[in-house]
Amino acid sequence: MDYKLEVDLHTHTLASDHAYSTIHDYVREAPKRGIRLFANTDHGPDMEDAPHKWHFVNSLTFPRMADGVGILRGIESNIKDLDGNIDIEESIRSSLDIILTGFHPPVFAPRDIDANTEAMANAIKSGKVHVVTHPGNTNFPIHIEHIVKLAAQENVALEINNSSFLFSRKKSYANCQRIAQLAKQYDAPITVGSDAHNAWDLGRFDIAKAMITEVGYPADRVVNNTVDSLFAYLATKGIDIADEFEF
Ligand SMILES: [Zn+2]
Ligand SMILES: [Zn+2]
Repeated sequence: MDYKLEVDLHTHTLASDHAYSTIHDYVREAPKRGIRLFANTDHGPDMEDAPHKWHFVNSLTFPRMADGVGILRGIESNIKDLDGNIDIEESIRSSLDIILTGFHPPVFAPRDIDANTEAMANAIKSGKVHVVTHPGNTNFPIHIEHIVKLAAQENVALEINNSSFLFSRKKSYANCQRIAQLAKQYDAPITVGSDAHNAWDLGRFDIAKAMITEVGYPADRVVNNTVDSLFAYLATKGIDIADEFEF
């Protein structure tokens, strides 16, 4: 199977102040970029410029399809502590389709490699997280092999974040390459995310795609490779929503 990457699970709208586009902007750009389905995943409430929690609760009002493009209700939550707790209460969780989580310095300041690993591992083991965002971030060193093995065991996807190579976490490439190699070795699921902060970056996977191609990571294990693979993954988490969409 070839890489199709027709789903983007990681986008921010201007509900997060440091992002610049609306849901409409993303819908308009999606067909031009080969994206059939995308998740709106603004930052969880504990981030400094995150939207209020009602932003997430009320995302229930999004249409499932707009102009032929599917929209998922999501969040990029924050790992808060060593126990792997995230900044989502039940009212938010029950409104959403997909829950990403990751380290962001304003919420969890980088610690040593053992502490970072413990926090991320506990988030993975919590059963409350579907994707760990930018685990290759060199500002938050982790024991990569331990995390990849755990991700395989718990069936939680690790993200290869294309934006990391372009903007904020440029030194992440080597870590991400190792994550992709080990994920192939241990059969851990991955996602490829644009982490778009404006609609022109929707579906921008160029560097991440080249990397997983080089590594030989199997396309059918990339959670967001197709609409069907994404829905199949969510179904393993008890989120059975495929029938609500009409492509
Ligand atoms: Zn992030
Ligand atoms: Zn993000």
